[in-house]
Amino acid sequence: MKQRVAIIGAGPSGMAQLRAFQSAQEKGADIPELVCFEKQADWGGMWNYTWRTGTDENGEPVHGSMYRYLWSNGPKECLEFADYTFEEHFGKAIASYPPREVLWDYIKGRVEKAGVRKYIRFNTAVRDVRYDEATAQFIVTSHDFANDTTRAETFDYVVNACGHFSTPHAPTFPGFETFGGRILHAHDFRDALEFKNKNILLIGSSYSAEDIGSQCYKYGARSITSCYRTAPMGYHWPATWEERPQLQYMAGNVAHFADGSFKHVDAIILCTGYKHHFPFLPDSLRLKTNNRLWPLGLYKGVFWEDNPRLVYLGMQDLWYSFNMFDAQAWYARDVILGRIALPGREVMTADSLAWRTREEALVTNQDMFEFQGSYIEQLVAATDYPSFDIAGVNRTFLEWKHDKHEDIMGYRNKSYRSLMTGTQSPPHHTPWIKALDDSMAAYLGEPAVSPTARQPA
Ligand SMILES: Cc1cc2nc3c(=O)[nH]c(=O)nc-3n(C[C@H](O)[C@H](O)[C@H](O)COP(=O)(O)OP(=O)(O)OC[C@H]3O[C@@H](n4cnc5c(N)ncnc54)[C@H](O)[C@@H]3O)c2cc1C
Repeated sequence: MKQRVAIIGAGPSGMAQLRAFQSAQEKGADIPELVCFEKQADWGGMWNYTWRTGTDENGEPVHGSMYRYLWSNGPKECLEFADYTFEEHFGKAIASYPPREVLWDYIKGRVEKAGVRKYIRFNTAVRDVRYDEATAQFIVTSHDFANDTTRAETFDYVVNACGHFSTPHAPTFPGFETFGGRILHAHDFRDALEFKNKNILLIGSSYSAEDIGSQCYKYGARSITSCYRTAPMGYHWPATWEERPQLQYMAGNVAHFADGSFKHVDAIILCTGYKHHFPFLPDSLRLKTNNRLWPLGLYKGVFWEDNPRLVYLGMQDLWYSFNMFDAQAWYARDVILGRIALPGREVMTADSLAWRTREEALVTNQDMFEFQGSYIEQLVAATDYPSFDIAGVNRTFLEWKHDKHEDIMGYRNKSYRSLMTGTQSPPHHTPWIKALDDSMAAYLGEPAVSPTARQPA
């Protein structure tokens, strides 16, 4: 009987897993039966934008944390697929920092070409996963929203690709209850225009604070104040953006900071990160970690050491993203296909601990992306995923970091060389700060198609 593999989530990681199996099949392999459960109505995960916040149309927590006008926060050359380039997808070289819709189109292009949509059950959430020791199989219970039915099925492997940027870590501060403005987590931020002419306070000093603040600046916020727990972000901010040490309390609309300073603000956005949250998994199968480069308990960063038939994709802190998910998915595929044998439990744990020890010694950003690059390199070397120039990607990350420190509002105007095709990307036609229309048509310099345009009679 064919083995059965359940994939939870059709975001970039789940799509990578589907493509990995299809690519083996294309080369003649007999692949297992695949069922991919996706709670949203379409694929693309985080890149499938939703205007919704709170609960979705099915009463589920909204998965999406992306907002309008989001452009890639790193060069696309660092995330390019090795088996499907941007040039192949768009038929030409495009600039280096595409907006969300452009990246969504790119990741969809590869799996449309591969014809793997048929494996996905949309509008279907996984509710529960159990492992039956007696049969050595998983029992996966899912809820099909279209038919309002619940179903339990057995699988030989489960691939958890549900992402980890959807459940907010949302601390509170004294005075929040009586603050006279809106308080939201970054997860619920959708449109910077809501904050036009407002004085906003951002709590946090990582990517969300940096990017949401930049969006609000670009779309007309009056002032931005960001506050940090340990260290300021330290970029050369525009005159209306200042960094302060941690918020202590709110007195009405006045924010009081750890250095004794204070400021009147109209809205507060918690850029305080996300939790790895897997409510459908029992303790014995559940990864418990903060956002870091080497979560413990995952051999090769993917196999649950207590039961390696459970695979986790994309659970690391991300420098690399799409091509790392590919490297993981190809490796997991080859273990499932019996092409790679896993060692015993002790060897797996010792290997993970060695990576963890290396991770703990990392100091600089460069140390971190090089560490992740070397992790990917050893995964890629073990499979037929096309090997690519990881040292080149690391160099591009370094240039990107440098460009950000030179000009935080202008780094997205830079362009880099593809590490897959060698083609130098063209500069974008409009500086990022002036490019208010983030549609794919505007980005690619094609005529815009208005959804309300009158159709010829
Ligand atoms: C605001 C924001 C900006 C980002 N910007 C960038 C960027 O510029 N560049 C970059 O490389 N990365 C960026 N990222 C990181 C982004 O998360 C990854 O690029 C990528 O989307 C991760 O893919 P994934 O498939 O692992 O997870 P996701 O994209 O989160 O997809 C997970 C999928 O699983 C589904 N799912 C979840 N639970 C269930 C369930 N119980 N049952 C069924 N389906 C389920 C979800 O609906 C979703 O479709 C950003 C993230 C955020 C939040």
